[in-house]
Amino acid sequence: MKIHEYQAKQLFRQYNIPVPEGNVAFSVGGAKEATQNIGSFPVVVKAQIHAGGRGKGGGVKLASSMDEVQTVANEILGMTLVTHQTGPEGKLVKKLLIEAGQEIQKELYLSFLVDRATASVVIMASQDGGMDIETVAEKTPERIIKVHVDPLLGIQGYHIRQVAFGLKMPPVAMKQFGALLSNLFRLFVENDCSLVEINPLILTSTDKVLALDAKVDFDSNALHRHKELIGLRDLDEEDPLEVEASGYNL
Ligand code: ADP
Ligand code: MG
Repeated sequence: MKIHEYQAKQLFRQYNIPVPEGNVAFSVGGAKEATQNIGSFPVVVKAQIHAGGRGKGGGVKLASSMDEVQTVANEILGMTLVTHQTGPEGKLVKKLLIEAGQEIQKELYLSFLVDRATASVVIMASQDGGMDIETVAEKTPERIIKVHVDPLLGIQGYHIRQVAFGLKMPPVAMKQFGALLSNLFRLFVENDCSLVEINPLILTSTDKVLALDAKVDFDSNALHRHKELIGLRDLDEEDPLEVEASGYNL
């Protein structure tokens, strides 16, 4: 089961994984209210759909004043956003995330996924954050680090060091990054995730580590153990045939 970025970031907050301040909005008025709550500019207005590549498709925009928030929110809400992940028909945008704009020093890539072949959790990381990871994997596979974690042993210091050194994490950010990896591992296992992807994970201009994007997929076969997650499902985003099938427990 997929969820939206704003929901994934809410889950991150529960696990002390740092994310920018932000709020979801369902209307232009709501976007202005969310901006007021943040209390400073610039803010970033982000389309909430179950697909990535929103930035390139025009679904992520910076706004430096309340007027700009109004214009940009108006533009994005109700647009049919086409990205490389939506297919040519695109997806109608019904929700926005209004988020505090960050000063980015470096964009990194980080994901956790289940590797069935080795029955482990694999951490993938790359210094080429913000880019399409499939392209990095195809053109420069040596720039992707993979670290396997045995779920019975859990994440250990040596796993963290391997990922951190691979990303050339500066020493000042090591402690934060270690905590982030441990917390993310706990989130992944406790919620029966099949994928958690942060692209980009950033180093801010003040050396803070922050999840700027968040993608979380849950293993649908394990959802019966997580009644609290079922409310996060957005049927609007799913294939109507799949929705109908799941109504019959198929
Ligand atoms: P997508 O992956 O769907 O394109 P992202 O959330 O990764 O969407 O946003 C695309 C890009 O927009 C990011 O790589 C980053 O450069 C920029 N961006 C996103 N959120 C923020 C933010 N809060 N502050 C500054 N820049 C941002
Ligand atoms: Mg992204």
